[in-house]
Amino acid sequence: MSNQQLRSWVAAANKAECDFPIQNLPYGVFSVAGRTPRCGVAIGDMILDLAECEARGLLDAKGTFAQPVLNDFIELGREIWDRTRVCLTALLAEDGDRALPLVPMSSASLHLPIRVTEFTDFYASRNHAFNVGVLFRGPENALPPQWTHMPIGYNGRASSVVVSGTPIRRPMGQIKGEDGPVWTASRRLDLELELGAVVGANSRMGQRISVDEAEDMIFGYVLLNDWSARDIQTWEYQPLGPFQAKAFGTTISPWIVTQAALEPFRSTGAVRVNPLLPYLQEQRPGFYDMVLGWTMNGQTMAQTNYNVMYYSSAQQLAHHTASGCPMRVGDLLGSGTVSGSARDQTGALLEMTQGGKTPVQVAGQPRTFIQDGDKIELFGYALANGYRIGFGPCTGTILPAQE
Ligand code: MN
Repeated sequence: MSNQQLRSWVAAANKAECDFPIQNLPYGVFSVAGRTPRCGVAIGDMILDLAECEARGLLDAKGTFAQPVLNDFIELGREIWDRTRVCLTALLAEDGDRALPLVPMSSASLHLPIRVTEFTDFYASRNHAFNVGVLFRGPENALPPQWTHMPIGYNGRASSVVVSGTPIRRPMGQIKGEDGPVWTASRRLDLELELGAVVGANSRMGQRISVDEAEDMIFGYVLLNDWSARDIQTWEYQPLGPFQAKAFGTTISPWIVTQAALEPFRSTGAVRVNPLLPYLQEQRPGFYDMVLGWTMNGQTMAQTNYNVMYYSSAQQLAHHTASGCPMRVGDLLGSGTVSGSARDQTGALLEMTQGGKTPVQVAGQPRTFIQDGDKIELFGYALANGYRIGFGPCTGTILPAQE
């Protein structure tokens, strides 16, 4: 039987619209009342308790599944990832073990799946880079001259990465006023629809990683919302890039979808406008045919595809090490806002409303940026014949600023 036709004895996993079929098996960290957080895998509407599986001798991950983050498991390396995936598939398949320690997802709390070692955010959708560049600098200088030659990024904050469902406080900050700077709650709060890559292996200081090696170092992917305060950003970002505009919160999905689960959906990305330098060239396409979108207060605002991107996570990782910068397990690389060319394919309100000039309708009201109480949800899935590989929701609700 091919992997595509596999079904699970967990009934909910076999529904076409379920994010967690047996072909997915994403990793997360969960807890139930009275028990410590531990590692789990999502299957249908259940979570498989991996720590308990290991305690029963069903898996061998050197005790790492009892940890409250996945870093130690991830650090065991690709051979263990692959072996564990084979074991999990056998346990959860139709002829598998029906006495497994499963917990209903509805009764569990989901935690940040990794200790985020460092967070780097990139800028890899050409549509987004151009549209935002027009708003910030005009059409002539929209796309910086180096943009089509290398992945542009900045070193963000790991300390403010939170798991889906964590409320986000509207930031206070300094913005440009009519007569000098003003201290205020951000008035132009925005989201950024992104995919986050979780680095699964360490590299040494001074060690340059090729794109192919980088591909092998990625453990998996999460949905990532890079919340952005556009008014703070406009005033602060030159010449060193975003700082407080993006430091107040970044939300990721609780489930890490492995590279192995996404392999059947591998895809080419955007058409190159010039050849890349050899260290950024890839042997095989590094993107995925994967729907990504977002909703505001339950209304779908935009939907696009990860394969519109210009630089893959592997290229970003290779570039990140080009100077000899060491990478560590648990490093998180944000793809950059994923935007297609049409308005209903944009991954940020800044783009969708052209800097607030052309409002969109939400529940019959004209809207530009995010208001207090708004709930933003990212979604993402790769669609196969009869099943889909999804992330589950990645949500955040905005709390009023503390003035
Ligand atoms: Mn971003």
